[in-house]
Amino acid sequence: MSEPSAIAEAATPPPTERDAAPSASPAPAPAPAPIPPPPAIVTRALTKRYGSLVALDTLDLALEKGDVFGFIGPNGAGKSTTMKILAGLLEPTSGTAEVLGRDVMRNGDFVRRNIGYMPDFFNGYEDLTVFEYLEFFASAYGIDRKQRKRVVNDVLELTDLNYKRDALTNSLSRGMTQRLSLARVLVPDPPILLLDEPASGLDPRARIEIRELLKELQRLGKTILVSSHILSELGEFCNKLGIIERGKLIVCGTIDELMARARAHRVISVQVVGDPAAALAALEGDARVERVESSGPELLVTLRDPTLHHSFLLETLLARQIKIHSVAPHQLKLEDVFLRLTKGIVQ
Ligand code: ADP
Ligand code: MG
Repeated sequence: MSEPSAIAEAATPPPTERDAAPSASPAPAPAPAPIPPPPAIVTRALTKRYGSLVALDTLDLALEKGDVFGFIGPNGAGKSTTMKILAGLLEPTSGTAEVLGRDVMRNGDFVRRNIGYMPDFFNGYEDLTVFEYLEFFASAYGIDRKQRKRVVNDVLELTDLNYKRDALTNSLSRGMTQRLSLARVLVPDPPILLLDEPASGLDPRARIEIRELLKELQRLGKTILVSSHILSELGEFCNKLGIIERGKLIVCGTIDELMARARAHRVISVQVVGDPAAALAALEGDARVERVESSGPELLVTLRDPTLHHSFLLETLLARQIKIHSVAPHQLKLEDVFLRLTKGIVQ
């Protein structure tokens, strides 16, 4: 069995760190230090090209065990490409991808055992009921006959599909189909889940059901990489988020880090009475103001010096006889943070 050595190999530092360390002369081997568990998912400079199109451009990702990573990006950004590579279904052009410390291209069986990949389409079998469908996959995953019923019942329970156990798979609504697709992925109980737009095309109620299910999986300790083109769908329960556009990861971090980065820039909301054009011009002309964004009647003013009190804004406006409705610190919501991060407003 080569497993322990493969894990030890994965736990050694990457070459750059190793090269930088001072080279020590051979000393008596110290007692082996406990090997830290490998991260759930690591990609380094992962790249996929289709001819001249760069579908994925030097992606660096790291997910620890238990992370729930929201992978946000518009259509064509490279989300599905990333997931297929991680699931071992697509070969990258260059770069590496590791699952629990093992290179995905060289450890297909290991990756398949540890990853549950839910694609963005459903491969149904017309004549099978929900129960038969899951039982079929349980047998394909090598779960023995005695265990199969229990396993299928468990995933039906978890995904709240028990009441549909005898329905034909092709009679289900889109929301139920998505839950069935997730149920199938959960049959072998993999520690890592790659879920490709599980909430896409769902009505609001079905969307909430999927969200609740993902929260439950999070509570069960799964590591989850879940994609969406809608930030608000994921922001609520992910602990890490990344935004990808045209193959490039443009923003990535824990929610706390991202919020802190955005908060470092003070934003003040200014509402004036009547047309805000004069106020906009006055504030843009103030050297202490970094930028002004206008959103309807509200002006969002970013201060150059975040420690400065915002009362000078009042003076600037009053000096021009502009009537003020309110001036108050603006509470950035996660969506605002992302908008600012992706527009390069927050460095
Ligand atoms: P997303 O899942 O974020 O919508 P994808 O990963 O599916 O994006 O696609 C990324 C880019 O790669 C898109 O421009 C898409 O058209 C392109 N692409 C994906 N698969 C192929 C393929 N088999 N051949 C050529 N181009 C592809
Ligand atoms: Mg996709």
